Amino acid sequence: MIVKSRSESLELKILRSLHVRSDMGVKEENYYSNLSKGFMGEKKFDEWLEPLINTRLVLHDVLLEHNNTKFQIDSLLITSDKIYLFEVKNYEGDFYIESEKWLSHSKNEIKSPLLQLQRNESLFRRLQQDLGYNFTIESYVIFVNPEFHLYQAPANLPLIFPTQLNRFICKIKRFPSRLADIHSKFAEHLHSLHINDSPYSRLPEYHFSALKKGICCLACHKLHTSFRKTTLTCKSCGSRENYIPAVLRSVEEFKLLFPDRKITSNDIYEWCEIIKTKRVIWEILSSNFTLVGRGKSSYYVR
Ligand SMILES: [Zn+2]
Repeated sequence: MIVKSRSESLELKILRSLHVRSDMGVKEENYYSNLSKGFMGEKKFDEWLEPLINTRLVLHDVLLEHNNTKFQIDSLLITSDKIYLFEVKNYEGDFYIESEKWLSHSKNEIKSPLLQLQRNESLFRRLQQDLGYNFTIESYVIFVNPEFHLYQAPANLPLIFPTQLNRFICKIKRFPSRLADIHSKFAEHLHSLHINDSPYSRLPEYHFSALKKGICCLACHKLHTSFRKTTLTCKSCGSRENYIPAVLRSVEEFKLLFPDRKITSNDIYEWCEIIKTKRVIWEILSSNFTLVGRGKSSYYVR
């Protein structure tokens, strides 16, 4: 059973929007690209875990805290005999380990996933002790990308490579899991401790006036949509969509980027840009939101 599923983080959603609507710096662009790749890798691993969920419990993407230190677990698998912690990496290309340092092909040092794993395991172990549990814990770094290779990796490290993943999952599956109440109780306990992190403090600075306006395509997220009669067509990928859900999605995006800004028909009209008549925006907002106030200072709420 999946106790906690995975969804795109607010940070990833906001950065995707900023990526389309502004010119990001190289550093931010890389950060966004890594975050996005990481999420895709985690989704891929979720599929690998699917065959195990009937008789085991899974929590995806949990942010926990111990002693004022936050730590994130990509996937947590509760079986009757032990708990698995998984750190999922979607690295691509060749990497090396040289005296415990992790280096990319171009000799750039990257954060050691092993250190990250050890830190998470240690914090998790102490947390479960504080909560009064004493399960056996096993943790692994999972590399999901078939284009990944690591040179000079000692065989005894808790690393699972793409070519080993199938056998690794089969091995867990072969071992029967008979869950008891204590396992569900622990899973619910962890779920209740999950922290909803606010990303707003670590985002790059952005302003409404400086962002590119328009409606992002549902399929490819690009801004290249054109509007004719009731249909939006994306010039990049060719997908088509009715204008009403597209405007509502743009309102959601606006709210996500500017949580403190009021939803007004003027702002949404400017934000969507390609809807040429203000009346259309007004109609969509009026039939999906509640108007508060009158005249120029009026705005919409859910
Ligand atoms: Zn598109």
